[in-house]
Amino acid sequence: MHSERSEDMPADIKSMYEDELKEEFAKMGEPAYRAGQVYKWLHEGVKSFDEMTNISKKLRERLMENYYISNAAIEKKLISAYDDTKKYLFSFGDGEMVESVLMKYHHGYTSCISTQVGCKMGCTFCATGKSGFSRNLTASEMLAQLQAEQQDNHIRISNIVLMGMGEPLDNFENVIRFLKLVSSENGMNIGMRHISLSTCGIVPKIYELADMKLQLTLSVSLHAPNDQIRSRTMPVNRKYNIDELLKACQYYVRQTNRRISFEYAMIDGVNDSVANAEELAKRLKGILSHVNLIPVNAVKGTGYEKSKKESIKRFIAVLERAGITATVRRTLGSDINASCGQLRRSVSDGRIKEG
Ligand code: SAH
Ligand code: SF4
Repeated sequence: MHSERSEDMPADIKSMYEDELKEEFAKMGEPAYRAGQVYKWLHEGVKSFDEMTNISKKLRERLMENYYISNAAIEKKLISAYDDTKKYLFSFGDGEMVESVLMKYHHGYTSCISTQVGCKMGCTFCATGKSGFSRNLTASEMLAQLQAEQQDNHIRISNIVLMGMGEPLDNFENVIRFLKLVSSENGMNIGMRHISLSTCGIVPKIYELADMKLQLTLSVSLHAPNDQIRSRTMPVNRKYNIDELLKACQYYVRQTNRRISFEYAMIDGVNDSVANAEELAKRLKGILSHVNLIPVNAVKGTGYEKSKKESIKRFIAVLERAGITATVRRTLGSDINASCGQLRRSVSDGRIKEG
């Protein structure tokens, strides 16, 4: 990270590990404990160096010259009338925008954050995929989404899902850096077991992640029982097919002893027949897994509709008979387009006015 940085550009201080900050401070002739103090401030979510009240004015000025703190500004906020789900549209310093969703469960608050502005993967049912790709988020911009939500609601977030806009494994380095920062003792200290990462199936990166043996939950967006359907809805499948993907998943289970969660968006008439369920059951046999069925969120311009209730019931019954655990995901905030990518699109279409 340091090598990429040109000397006269302020550096992204909130993306630095505590040890890296200590090294930087040592170079400035500052003691290590000062770096520790600054690290704590950054992870409490201060927006400026002036808020670091136990740091001298002189040092704050020096920091201001050399570093910047990335923040997420709230552009829009939608609050569900059915539950307490809140959807945020955030902007960063360069004007780029991403979405994030805050959900309240009995065990605490879960935030679903974005990892990229847009996405390159082009899944046909996904609003983010339809909007194209703009850039990767930095680790600090992922942290900033959580911090803005905590501050806006005076709460602590206890669980994180990387299921917002973007493909986390297509922004591997920054995502890993984020995971290490957010779980660090002097950071937000959210344990890996409270974090889920969702991927469309970038196979080589699943192997890489498996070898790191992090205790996070891997969610794999499967959405189809065979290559024919999957390649049609998820272009990534043309590069890494289902067999290769499931092989990588088995490796992940072996390396981490963690169960995989397979996401399956149910699309009326596309992937929700009894035959589809039987094929899926056959393929998943023997993999330590759990299937999450999600009635697809209809996105304008896709022509896809969510499966009928009866089809979902039939589908789940087939899986259960085959000994595969499956649940239908509770849809939170269905009135506020809580599935990611939809808010940014509707704002740019001018369909949603104010939150
Ligand atoms: N890129 C990653 C994570 C972000 S998408 C991935 O694809 O896994 C988060 C989840 O939302 C994925 O499971 C994705 O397939 C699903 N999703 C996207 N559009 C959807 C829609 N219209 N309805 C239901 N789920 C959708
Ligand atoms: Fe990207 Fe995930 Fe949307 Fe596919 S579903 S386009 S991988 S964000």
